[in-house]
Amino acid sequence: MTVRVRFAPSPTGLLHVGNARIALVNWLYARRHGGRFMLRLDDTDRERSKPEFAVAIAEDLDWLGLERDETAAQSDRFDRYEIALRRLQEAGRAYPCYETPEELTLKRKRLAASGKPPVYDRAALDLSDADRAALEASGRRPHWRFRLEHGEIVWEDLVRGPVRFHGADLSDPVIVREDGLPLYTLSSCVDDVELAVSHVIRGEDHVANTAVQVQIVEALGGDPAGMAFAHLPLLVDAEGRGLSKRLGSLSLRALREQGIEPMAINSLLAFLGTSDSIEAAANLPELMSRFDLARVSRTPPRFDPAELERMNGRTLHVMLWEDVRPRLAHMGLAEAGEAFWQAVRGNLGRFAEVRHWYAVCYGSIEPVTEDPELLVTAADLLPDAPWDGGTWKAWTTAVGAATGRKGRALYRPLRRALTGTDRGPELGDLLPLIGPARARARLSGKAA
Ligand code: GLU
Repeated sequence: MTVRVRFAPSPTGLLHVGNARIALVNWLYARRHGGRFMLRLDDTDRERSKPEFAVAIAEDLDWLGLERDETAAQSDRFDRYEIALRRLQEAGRAYPCYETPEELTLKRKRLAASGKPPVYDRAALDLSDADRAALEASGRRPHWRFRLEHGEIVWEDLVRGPVRFHGADLSDPVIVREDGLPLYTLSSCVDDVELAVSHVIRGEDHVANTAVQVQIVEALGGDPAGMAFAHLPLLVDAEGRGLSKRLGSLSLRALREQGIEPMAINSLLAFLGTSDSIEAAANLPELMSRFDLARVSRTPPRFDPAELERMNGRTLHVMLWEDVRPRLAHMGLAEAGEAFWQAVRGNLGRFAEVRHWYAVCYGSIEPVTEDPELLVTAADLLPDAPWDGGTWKAWTTAVGAATGRKGRALYRPLRRALTGTDRGPELGDLLPLIGPARARARLSGKAA
């Protein structure tokens, strides 16, 4: 079977980490199985869908590196949904209903009062031609429901295992609105059949939809038994609550503006809620080779922004030099070579912080001076070039012997003078990059 998956957001807002996880898992699954990844924009709702969100979704997927093989938009396919409705009508699987929203609410309330589930009573199926004519004459327009078969609906979910529903426990879903607009339940099935989707991988909020959609797909001439379904539990916060309230700050846009690396998001989201340990991957191919949908657990994964922060640092640490070099060049940090990157990467929370260390090694900083006596001796004892990885040790040993300083009293003033701060990469690595001229100037308190 050719693997073909789709990520199907509605362009009604920005993608957040929850959407990104679904997109990523689809993408990884497709790539891992030599399949195709489609972006399908569920944009039939013309009032809420905005072209700028469709653009933002594509940009955000590009930023994550989730390359698309195809893009489809439901708004281009209204004619297909009309044909599908006709087909269902002709097969007796779609029937017109005339209840107003208020009447439906009342029905649900009555059912609830007698302790029954809110399943539509199919009253519209009992309408005669004369009843329908009378309703239409009074100005009512029909909406259309799909008539479910009242049998068992069973599938083997790739995440949840065997899932079982009974048609009689479900309401016949509305598939076309009174104004003729096809609803997601219909358009999604039409697309899954016509665009030959093999694996539907989505959030677990769609489990009940799948029960209904299995029957719609079949009624449309598709083969649901030949399709696979996977429903991933939705991300929750540290208290186990849905992320919905925080999603604004967890949009990919916001994270990007905060300087979070796309691979940090990818690594975290690929392994969160799986039985694998969460480790930073250097790139998507590496992630792909480690990802396995079978290890996604049914327990809702906790998304912790602090974990994303840590993952960002770890991602910078494992980043390949070939990926780093063009970024440094783009930032105008032309002198930075691999030794520089290796020296500083472990101290970065954000890639942009590299600028600070670049200034320390190749530019000019304001030294912080204390213990002038120590600094004068240290400047005198600076060895001749060339400097290498052993220079720091040899030099500080000599300075320690000459001044009697040791430990913190020796190292802190030197670090402050040479780098302007208290903390940072190993000075053994930095010193050869700083070089004799800058070191000498800084030890004597001059900006250099
Ligand atoms: N537009 C739906 C959503 O965003 C798509 C669900 C699906 O993958 O079928 O929830």
